[in-house]
Amino acid sequence: MTKITPLLFLMVLFYGYKTEKHPIEDLQLEQVKNQIQLSETQEILFTLAADSMKGRDTKSKGYYKAATFVRSYFKSNKIAAFYPEYKDSLSTKGRNTYNVVGRLGSYDPNKKTILIGAHLDHIGIRGSVGDSIYNGANDNASGATAVLQIGKFLAQFEWDQNIILALFADEEQGLRGAYHLAKRFKKEGVSIDYMVNFEMIGTTLTTGANQVYMTGYNYSNMPELMNQKSPNFVQYLPEAKELNLFRRSDNYAFFKESNTPAFTLSSFDFKNFDYYHKAGDEAELLHTENMNRIICTAAFTLAKMIHKQDRVQFQLQTQQQPSMEAQ
Ligand SMILES: [Zn+2]
Repeated sequence: MTKITPLLFLMVLFYGYKTEKHPIEDLQLEQVKNQIQLSETQEILFTLAADSMKGRDTKSKGYYKAATFVRSYFKSNKIAAFYPEYKDSLSTKGRNTYNVVGRLGSYDPNKKTILIGAHLDHIGIRGSVGDSIYNGANDNASGATAVLQIGKFLAQFEWDQNIILALFADEEQGLRGAYHLAKRFKKEGVSIDYMVNFEMIGTTLTTGANQVYMTGYNYSNMPELMNQKSPNFVQYLPEAKELNLFRRSDNYAFFKESNTPAFTLSSFDFKNFDYYHKAGDEAELLHTENMNRIICTAAFTLAKMIHKQDRVQFQLQTQQQPSMEAQ
């Protein structure tokens, strides 16, 4: 018996390992497409960009309505609250608001942590003649929809890393919501290994369908890691560098506060949508089929990255490390 036992032990270990194979190992993009339905993506987008949300600013209280919708979506899709009631509260210009913050599984400070985010707010109601509601369908109901759908998809699996989902308030007031959360994370010792932010993904990039560009493209290996999983998904947009878009969305707050590799994915290239920060930024004008493809590809890509425990790092040798520019 003593001679057989180690062999038996190894066999049990081997077969035990085989049967416990992680479902993400064999995950195919087609499976993701079967789960993240276009109809639900449209439903979320149209809800967040509806006139009843009044352009999602705190002033009009439309933001609270949108945030309440997100919290109940999280609750009904196995996404737990990271802070009580999902609220990270802050005050901007004397008005109280909050970021919505959820998590998948329990939070373990000894594990790596990935943050997936988008801003939920927009610029509200302006003027009183004609259409005065700035719905912000592309900016950024589209990005918020991505975080909700990706979160719901990822929530069905067990992960070895912490996954936090955040919908930011007051991006349009100078990234205030993101700065608040980044500072709070720093204070509380919540260390983010990398962050992926979604901003304006409702139109089709001029270079092709099912593509996004990444801000700060050359700063890290993240585009490469993503394109390994989904070839040609992440593009370089020269305008993103010229206009310094790396600094113009919520990712920047996490970089600035904690030097986190934090980047934004977008498909708005300044040529493919005429309603940036205009009242006409309505859900009906968006390419929702392409948007849903982007969401599916992003969900698939992130699932693979998280499962493989990819390490996202700044590329020091490029001379483009953002800390040199970001003052
Ligand atoms: Zn935006």
